Amino acid sequence: MLVPAATAPISLDVTTLFVVATCVTGLLGLLLLFAWVKNRVPALAWWGAAYLIGGVSVAAWSLEDLVSPPLPTGIANALLFIACGTMWNAARVFHGRPVLVSALIGGAATWLFACTFTDFAQWPAARIVLSSVIVASYTFATAAELWRERRKTLRRRWPALFVPMLHGAVFLFPIPLASLLPGDRGIVTLSSGWVALFVLETMLYAVGTAFIVLVLATERTVRIHKDAAMTDELTGLLNRRGVLQAAQGLITQQAQKGESISALMFDLDHFKSINDAFGHTIGDKALHLFAVTASVSMRTTDIVGRFGGEEFVALLPGTIADARIVAERVRNAFQAAGATVAGCDLNATVSVGAASGQPGTDIVALLAAADAALYRAKANGRNRVEAKQEGEMPIVFATTPPRAAVNRTSREVLVPPPKSVETLMAGPSLLH
Ligand code: GH3
Ligand code: MG
Ligand code: MG
Repeated sequence: MLVPAATAPISLDVTTLFVVATCVTGLLGLLLLFAWVKNRVPALAWWGAAYLIGGVSVAAWSLEDLVSPPLPTGIANALLFIACGTMWNAARVFHGRPVLVSALIGGAATWLFACTFTDFAQWPAARIVLSSVIVASYTFATAAELWRERRKTLRRRWPALFVPMLHGAVFLFPIPLASLLPGDRGIVTLSSGWVALFVLETMLYAVGTAFIVLVLATERTVRIHKDAAMTDELTGLLNRRGVLQAAQGLITQQAQKGESISALMFDLDHFKSINDAFGHTIGDKALHLFAVTASVSMRTTDIVGRFGGEEFVALLPGTIADARIVAERVRNAFQAAGATVAGCDLNATVSVGAASGQPGTDIVALLAAADAALYRAKANGRNRVEAKQEGEMPIVFATTPPRAAVNRTSREVLVPPPKSVETLMAGPSLLH
């Protein structure tokens, strides 16, 4: 009589599971290697290699007793431990940490050494406990590696931590049972009864981890490209786009606290003459020096960036009085640092314009005010700080922005019409 399918017990055939596990792990390994070839993220190559070694270890496990001559004792487990160690090192490589070869092969070496003792080889409980400890150690180490990097965004990244932790816990499971069950018979029964479940769990872990790894690698690549789009190559500071985006965040933050925000516009003095006299390479060094000087003269919470050419900008929480102090500090520091650059007497200096805005101020208006002050600093002799004055002439937006038309000595400043942050981001120059 036929047993209705709904009431038939699910039977997990261990041999079939081993074949499926080998195929799945091998395919995932190839997938990760393919992703590595495409994305050039070295950790993916390590992860792919770990999966392929894992696949070979599962195959070796199922063939251990079938092939002749028999495989060397313990070789299948040793391969599995190398796979786990490789995976852990892949997580290290992913976070820019070095590969620890001795720790990678440590588990396998311990295992093979233990297998040289006849007592150990014939004592299943000891073998299961040692295997569990090795696998769980590598898995927890992998989780710790992911924890180290992901603690800032843990809520979104919980699977990267939770999945290996769960896997490690599953592999620790046989240890208390091994001590509870009397003699070897208990554990042997346990191991053969649970082996299908362990293979199944490991397979799910392999699939889940491969998915997580691909997501992390993709996110990393996107972030690198995004950072590059926001960074000035020469100085390493934020570029115009980066500054404006960061500024929006600072303005919102200050508005929530009901506190004002200030902007500083910097323009190196007579920079064209420096280039003409000493060459572009020295000019570039002077730009880099200014970037470093400005960065170290400000708080890490301040936003500093290069707006283009020899023009820099900073946004700081606080009033115009605070901003003036910072501006003077940067100006002074650069005067000292820029006296000699790469053995050349540059005597480089910077002029600074400062302005502040009420909580929630408009970034475009704030930068325009700082720029107007900067023009005054230039007009009043350079190497000085000027702050936006009460009742200062309003900025007149010209319909055409001819730089040459800007009368730097006039108190009325003609600037192009910066309509929005998007316009600023797209434009080659802000106000000059
Ligand atoms: P001012 O004191 O009025 O600001 O005079 P200036 O000479 O600094 O201003 P000007 O706008 O006439 O010249 C700016 C110069 O900056 C011209 C340009 O060659 C130089 N410059 C712009 N970008 C770079 C760069 O990336 N590297 C180097 N070395 N020079 C640059
Ligand atoms: Mg300039
Ligand atoms: Mg200049």
